[in-house]
Amino acid sequence: MPNPSSKTHESQCPRCRLPLRRIDYEGVAADMCESCWGFFLETGELEQILSEKALHFTEEEKARILDIRTASKFGPSAPAPCPKCGHVMERIHYDAEVHLLIDKCVEDGIWLDTGEIKKVQALAEKSMSLHQLLLRKLGLFKN
Ligand SMILES: [Zn+2]
Ligand SMILES: [Zn+2]
Repeated sequence: MPNPSSKTHESQCPRCRLPLRRIDYEGVAADMCESCWGFFLETGELEQILSEKALHFTEEEKARILDIRTASKFGPSAPAPCPKCGHVMERIHYDAEVHLLIDKCVEDGIWLDTGEIKKVQALAEKSMSLHQLLLRKLGLFKN
């Protein structure tokens, strides 16, 4: 297997402009910003994380996570440049009930701002139809 550390990752956080760190998130090699806890996931990685369902939330945790939907209104509202190619990402509005905007680069993957990865996981766990809606919106769920 090629050594991934021999490759330089120059990906930068689109919010903080700090280099992203390659971490293992539920078995997926995700790029994370240690400053704002944003995540960049390459195409297919989110699907993998959601299918793992390794993270289990209590009802209370779910309620709290999903309640941040109001808090996210105060989050970054500007479209972000893709950490890989620098092109401005497309904004995908997940659901009318949930204020979740996901930034997506058609070439490389998706950017999740602070807390969004947990929110996505909680939503996917809460309901299969929300899960499928998300994957469809992101173009990950064909047919
Ligand atoms: Zn950051
Ligand atoms: Zn890109």
